[in-house]
Amino acid sequence: MAAREVESIFTDILDRAKVLDPGNTRKWFDRLTVLQLDGGSLGIGCPDEATLQFLRTNCKSSFTRAAQQITGHLVAVDFDVETIKKSAAPSEPTLPGPRLHPDYTFDNFVVGPSNRLAHASCVAVSQSPGNTYNPLFIYGSSGLGKTHLLHAVCSEAHGKSNGAVIQFLSCEDFVNRFIRAIEEGNLPGFQSQFRTVDMLVIDDIQFLREREHSQEEFFHTFNALYNNGKQIILSGDSPPGKIPSLEERLISRFNWGLVARIDPPSYETRVAIVQKKARLRSLKISDEIAEYIARKLQANIRELEGALTTVYAIATTTGKEITLELAQTALDGQIKLAARHISITDIIEVVTRHFDVRLADLQSKKRSQSITEPRQICMYLARSLTRHSLEEIGGHLGGRDHTTVMHACNKITLAKDADPQMSALLNELTRQITQPATR
Ligand code: ADP
Ligand code: MG
Repeated sequence: MAAREVESIFTDILDRAKVLDPGNTRKWFDRLTVLQLDGGSLGIGCPDEATLQFLRTNCKSSFTRAAQQITGHLVAVDFDVETIKKSAAPSEPTLPGPRLHPDYTFDNFVVGPSNRLAHASCVAVSQSPGNTYNPLFIYGSSGLGKTHLLHAVCSEAHGKSNGAVIQFLSCEDFVNRFIRAIEEGNLPGFQSQFRTVDMLVIDDIQFLREREHSQEEFFHTFNALYNNGKQIILSGDSPPGKIPSLEERLISRFNWGLVARIDPPSYETRVAIVQKKARLRSLKISDEIAEYIARKLQANIRELEGALTTVYAIATTTGKEITLELAQTALDGQIKLAARHISITDIIEVVTRHFDVRLADLQSKKRSQSITEPRQICMYLARSLTRHSLEEIGGHLGGRDHTTVMHACNKITLAKDADPQMSALLNELTRQITQPATR
């Protein structure tokens, strides 16, 4: 195939993928390149590890479907970091960095009165880890940007550091790795992995509650790092003293440095966030629509983002221009959903009853089809019916990490498209969850 032809097919595939999954479309898609395209496979090049992770986790199924629709046959899609530049100028071998979300940078974070202190302290720590606020503890309700800020600190510090080891993980991940180390009799391995890093960042530290052994282990990790002047950054849903059953000695240590709160954003900040998110996805929306979305959804920024995705998805699938009226119709259901507060527990209740399985099985490590399918369906429904993050959903289902949840959601989305029975089942479960009176 001529290079021009390959380019043009690739552009069509990209355009189709954007329509198929607007929620995961990003402005930088325009900078992706074709590494190879032949009868059965498509290799796509991206600039760095972070975008690679994003594409592999979020975009594989939409790109695969897009490639099949455009070429008319089965195409296996894979992504890779483009190596041409690297080979032209051989450089130091780089250590694998922490797995970071490419959207979650300081540039993409809107600063307002509600998050000014948290933002400023994160920036300060990223400039000079271990020397300003140690530990740094960021807290606030769900969906207010804690995870975003933690990723931003790590990206910034990773870019600046010369090979400093940054360990970023969710608290469940820390607990799970600790449990696995005990099971495998490899506690020393675990300890050296965490006690020798230059920066330890743990998201959602409230999951340490009621985990006595993990608290003990974390206490020693904390001391080892702190005494060596290494940076520790933590996030939680409440201030250290308000996390139930957290040991006194941990509470006092978490208060040694800076504790910064994030409040729900003001109206002006919400408008600016909607506009920022729209620009990030190359969407054109008028001020009127940004203001409408910001007025309607107030509590959680994840909801604002979901609203933007919904409006855009409806506009692209119907081919209509985004008008205020379209936004109002599109968001009607979403606003009702936000008001009704469906919880993951509601979803788990309906799914476990339908499949006749126990919650303990869903949370266990069992991998038989009779357990994995309901578990993946729970994840998919939690993703589509609530505004919980992937990490939070994984936390409810046995402390699974966000890539596992993302994989489950992609798998069920594909199954739903391919199998009318699965589609009917999901509709029925959704009906039972959203209309509890009919359960
Ligand atoms: P939390 O960890 O507090 O539950 P997240 O960091 O996951 O919240 O944020 C939820 C979503 O809201 C993310 O997509 C994040 O990018 C976005 N977000 C939160 N605060 C801001 C902000 N100030 N500017 C831009 N986006 C934000
Ligand atoms: Mg979070």
